[in-house]
Amino acid sequence: MDRSGTAVGEPAEISVRCPADGRLVGSVPELEPAEIEAVCADLRLAQPAWEALGPAGRRVWMLRWLDWLLDNEQRLLEMVQAETGKSWGDAALEMAVAIDVINYFTKNAEKFLADRRVKPAGVANAVRRLRVQVRPYQLVGLITPWNGPLGGPMMDVVGALVAGAAVVSKPSEVTPLTWTEVVRGWRDGIGAPPVLACVTGGGDAGAAVVDNVDMVMFTGSVRTGRAIAVRCAERLIPFSLELGGKDPMIVLADADLERASSAAVWGAMTNAGQACISVERVYVEDAVYDRFVSLVVDKAKALRQGMDKPGSFACDIGAMVTSAQVAIVQDQVDDAVAGGARVLLGGASAREGRFFEPTVLVDVDHSMTCMREETFGPTVAIMRVRDEDEAITLANDSQYGLSSSLWTRDRVKAERLSRRIEAGSVSINNALVATFQLPIPMGGWKNSGLGTRFGGANGVLKYCRQQSVVEERLALKSEPLWYPVVPTRSRLIAKMTRMLGAHDWRRRLGRPAR
Ligand code: NAD
Repeated sequence: MDRSGTAVGEPAEISVRCPADGRLVGSVPELEPAEIEAVCADLRLAQPAWEALGPAGRRVWMLRWLDWLLDNEQRLLEMVQAETGKSWGDAALEMAVAIDVINYFTKNAEKFLADRRVKPAGVANAVRRLRVQVRPYQLVGLITPWNGPLGGPMMDVVGALVAGAAVVSKPSEVTPLTWTEVVRGWRDGIGAPPVLACVTGGGDAGAAVVDNVDMVMFTGSVRTGRAIAVRCAERLIPFSLELGGKDPMIVLADADLERASSAAVWGAMTNAGQACISVERVYVEDAVYDRFVSLVVDKAKALRQGMDKPGSFACDIGAMVTSAQVAIVQDQVDDAVAGGARVLLGGASAREGRFFEPTVLVDVDHSMTCMREETFGPTVAIMRVRDEDEAITLANDSQYGLSSSLWTRDRVKAERLSRRIEAGSVSINNALVATFQLPIPMGGWKNSGLGTRFGGANGVLKYCRQQSVVEERLALKSEPLWYPVVPTRSRLIAKMTRMLGAHDWRRRLGRPAR
């Protein structure tokens, strides 16, 4: 990505280059805050009609959008690949996420958004009907990173639109092309109501989004997440943050090592390791450590790296999206080696294109950055541990707490240990899967985030405000508590309150304590 030279008065452009081969693949305008403010004002004008459509009316548009996505799948995934340098398999996964999320939330929208009738509490309220109804925030701001240009925004935009909100989305300035096109598909491709917009630009554009919306859904780094939280606090608007991770994998002596080692390689290398939930640290019980390491090295060695032809599914692992990220990965590997770690495989970036070799590190410890800071690259660091207690202690020794995995054949042990892990999700005998279970929440503990996405109804209700409605069954001329205060009546009310609220006869009758 670079800024192309533009003459004074002309809008600035962001040029996007393919990480695998450096070719220019497109550009988008870098919008000014005032332009973003105008986009937000238009979205607000369109939102009431969208909310009034109700879940069934909105479903029609969501499903037309899904049809459009499928009709344009090849073209969109080529765009994903061109701006990220992913393998075709990694790019294709993004469409799978979009399909699942749209189908799940549109199918369940009516149930999730239904009014909730509840019984009143207390005798005095028995004459009332209580109902909780939900109303969307009018305008949701959606800010996303560069590792999943299509799947990333899709994970959150669907819930907000289904809720009846309008959405202003800002993709990463590094990979803005696919999302710009997908939003164009909403507007021009299917002619949907103008309640979804894509604004492009960098951090300033993101800040302008935060300044103009009623709720922020952010996915990205801890640093930006914290800045957004501060600004949202100043504006007194709610926000939801999905941030970085340093996910541990715990392999116990009774685990299926074949399966666990395959999962370690896939979990660490998928999307070239550029996934918030990728496996970054592995703790293996002493008795099976050597066997596990050798399986991981053999399987990682067999990976085919490159940006394969669209539709070919010929490579396992693609490029790194930014050179800054390559530098972070290289620094962490170098720091580990300087601290005494051994590189059993890989350890360096390729000479051409932005590829980093699949890398296996051993003899690591928690003084090294590869065990403390997010790597976001195709590396896996494996550490020998005495027993499960040491594994849990080390797994929890992190500022992050996004996801995790536990490997054992003992279900009771797995259940017990899952309650000791400090992370928003635990996959047992699998890696990464806990994240994509739409009926349960996905969210980070500690510095990995605030709030959750998905989680059944929560995936839509998080974009709504609750509104309590209390309706009188009997509309009397006056109420016992209304003016004027009548001493006899007020005394009677006080007596009744005591009679009904106390738990023993002495207090019910107001007798003094003996
Ligand atoms: P980033 O925080 O640098 O940028 C994310 C987005 O925020 C971009 O669109 C950027 O333009 C925007 N932004 C930057 N400054 C802003 C500001 N002051 N106000 C508003 N918006 C601003 O993150 P990144 O480098 O693009 O992405 C990588 C990070 O994302 C990693 O830490 C990764 O773990 C995390 N991530 C988390 C999840 C999750 O679900 N938990 C998923 C994917 C990625």
